[in-house]
Amino acid sequence: MLTTSDKKLVNLLGFDRKGLKGYLASIEEAPYRAEQIMQWIHTKGFSDFAAMSNISKSLREKLCAIATIQLPEVIYNNQATDGTQKWLLKLKDGNCIESVFIPEKNRGTLCISSQVGCVLNCDFCSTGKQGFNRNLTTAEIISQLFIAERTLEKMANGVQRITNVVMMGMGEPLLNFDNLIPALNLMLDDFAYGLSKRRVTVSTAGVVPMIYRLREETDVALAVSLHAPHDQLRDELVPINKKYPLKLLMQACRAYFAQDPRRSITMEYVMLAGVNDTAKDARALIKLLEGIRVKVNLIPFNPFPHTIYKRSDDDTIARFRDILLNASLNTTVRRTRGDEIDAACGQLVGQVQDRTKRQVQHQAQIAKLANQSQHT
Ligand code: SAH
Repeated sequence: MLTTSDKKLVNLLGFDRKGLKGYLASIEEAPYRAEQIMQWIHTKGFSDFAAMSNISKSLREKLCAIATIQLPEVIYNNQATDGTQKWLLKLKDGNCIESVFIPEKNRGTLCISSQVGCVLNCDFCSTGKQGFNRNLTTAEIISQLFIAERTLEKMANGVQRITNVVMMGMGEPLLNFDNLIPALNLMLDDFAYGLSKRRVTVSTAGVVPMIYRLREETDVALAVSLHAPHDQLRDELVPINKKYPLKLLMQACRAYFAQDPRRSITMEYVMLAGVNDTAKDARALIKLLEGIRVKVNLIPFNPFPHTIYKRSDDDTIARFRDILLNASLNTTVRRTRGDEIDAACGQLVGQVQDRTKRQVQHQAQIAKLANQSQHT
């Protein structure tokens, strides 16, 4: 006979409202309990069934025996002087992931990871160089929000709150679609985190078919990591472009908010010195984005060890921005935050047990380059 500890406990963090109702029905409990349980877990931050006082004792005991609310282990929680915070979380299988909180005057943004590592191998991204291990579960995605909320509640009398979530941590969220959707549902659900759909952003390197599916399943905000105004350069910087070139990507972007003309897509554009930052590039970008409702966010490149790229200087970035502004493109420059704790974009590396062998390839490439430079 199985004892309780032998049985596989179901982690309730993995269910959105519909999923939890289904689970409760499957254990012959009333589905309306779902809202109560969700509030205990996500709104109030309890991970202990015994404390859920408006739930019958018999259901609490039943849940204790067959279910769990299992969070990753917080390895550390660092805070930079500008208020940016980073968490390193250890998952059950030993993999580690990172999330980052960025406080601003009127909002607080949590940057969440969707995968351990990333398959896409964008040339300027440090996560990409780490290789890929696996998708995160829904529970692991939403745990990042749960844990950050709890930390912030305890700090400074809970003044600093999470108002925005961006899926811009490690991984490509649209390649983990089935686990992503219930996590997004929880972010938006008033019985969980109750965030506005305009304040939850999925960022993609351009997995075109999944942009259409995202639009069918939810209407969160969308950001696209564009980074280049033409296919030749984008093939190099964002290799998934070879599969889904700019023409297809721009079509998907046009369709995303077609029904809601008040909303626009954010185009992210990393500023790489001498690579994509000339006036000619800016003009090509204007042409590419013609007729699409977009905001452009210029991201100063964040360097990491052994990268061949350099950040464009401030004047170049300002000039690039002004060309776009003059063409009436709503353009902002992202302020670099959390540098001192390696919490900036593309610097989230967690600890990936790489199954793609990309780290090995990358090291070999670096060795080759070093060798070449010795001979020149
Ligand atoms: N895979 C998703 C989300 C993760 S990256 C995507 O590609 O959108 C989040 C953003 O940070 C992306 O726009 C990414 O291109 C950018 N980024 C990655 N590495 C960077 C670096 N070293 N400096 C600045 N931005 C970077």
